[in-house]
Amino acid sequence: MSKFWSKIAASQKPYVPGEQPKDKKYIKLNTNENPYPPSPEVIEAIKAAADENLKLYPDPNGDALRQTLADYTGLKKDWVFVGNGSDEILAFAFMAFFDPGRPLFLPDVTYSFYAVYINLFQLDYQLVPLKEDFSLDPSDYFNSIGGVIFPNPNAPTGHCIDLEMVEAVLAHNPDRIVIVDEAYIDFGGKSAIPLINQYPNLLVIQTLSKSRSLAGLRVGFAFGQDELMEGLNRIKNSFNSYTLDRPSMAGAIAAINHEAYFQLTRGKVIRTRERIVPIMTEMGWQVIPSKANFIFISHPVLRAEDIFALLRQEGILVRYFRLPRIDNHLRVSIGTDEEMDRLLDTLRKITAAVL
Ligand SMILES: *Cc1c(COP(=O)(O)O)cnc(C)c1O
Repeated sequence: MSKFWSKIAASQKPYVPGEQPKDKKYIKLNTNENPYPPSPEVIEAIKAAADENLKLYPDPNGDALRQTLADYTGLKKDWVFVGNGSDEILAFAFMAFFDPGRPLFLPDVTYSFYAVYINLFQLDYQLVPLKEDFSLDPSDYFNSIGGVIFPNPNAPTGHCIDLEMVEAVLAHNPDRIVIVDEAYIDFGGKSAIPLINQYPNLLVIQTLSKSRSLAGLRVGFAFGQDELMEGLNRIKNSFNSYTLDRPSMAGAIAAINHEAYFQLTRGKVIRTRERIVPIMTEMGWQVIPSKANFIFISHPVLRAEDIFALLRQEGILVRYFRLPRIDNHLRVSIGTDEEMDRLLDTLRKITAAVL
């Protein structure tokens, strides 16, 4: 508490990202980063953009990147919004589309940044409990009071709903916005982007951070019809005209254009996940079926918090959340095959010592 802080700063409980430790080299399976490097073409494009033009402001509308995304998705450029990571776009969206007094609906177990924005913008909300197995029932979101947000696949569970289910939520909220956060959609789910033509209440948010190996570049996108784009732009242009810098936009364009590299690396992550899950199950872990680049696991006997600490000692970082319903679970990002084999070996060692 400080006498210099505003009431909002004083009451805020900021988001705590997964640690990025510097004390030693860890196998990092704690922040859902991609284990593979970005495409070499991305790095070339960023280097090429580091030229004398940096003296000039970047394009405030990001037109070149938006056009690339329009061509890629088949949407028109006017229905594409770009921002400094999808977290920034989510912040704009919470401010643009939700109001105090009209609770927005969100899952009780979900991306914990949503609660931070709710607090920051002093919004009202209604937590919608996931089912016992952590699956999401679309009908629980019908006729929302103030709109809906959920990630698909959900985080940190990895559970994904199919497109018909997303559409059911849209169809039963014709006068409310439905935000689908597709940070992990490229690892096995079906994007809701094709529904945008039909549903003016749909906002789809995506990011380069996970499936394009560019968490360090901070580029996210949103897709939706005119009114939603205008809402986002009203907030963005009341906050910062130049959210994306020149090298980031150049790198992002190269990342979208290098489709073969994207297919190769996301395919590897998916194959590693599919290889690992049956092994973990055989070792006694309960694994929620995942369509993301992480798995959410628990054990009938071992305590998640203890395993988290023991893995950390062994140089492997995973994510533990001390939160209701999930305080005996671990979220484990999918690394390379070698990293996952190290994890399995270490878990076997730890388990043998404890059980
Ligand atoms: C990682 C993540 C984001 C944030 O992505 P950035 O583009 O890196 O800001 C948004 N939503 C969910 C559900 C995520 O897991």
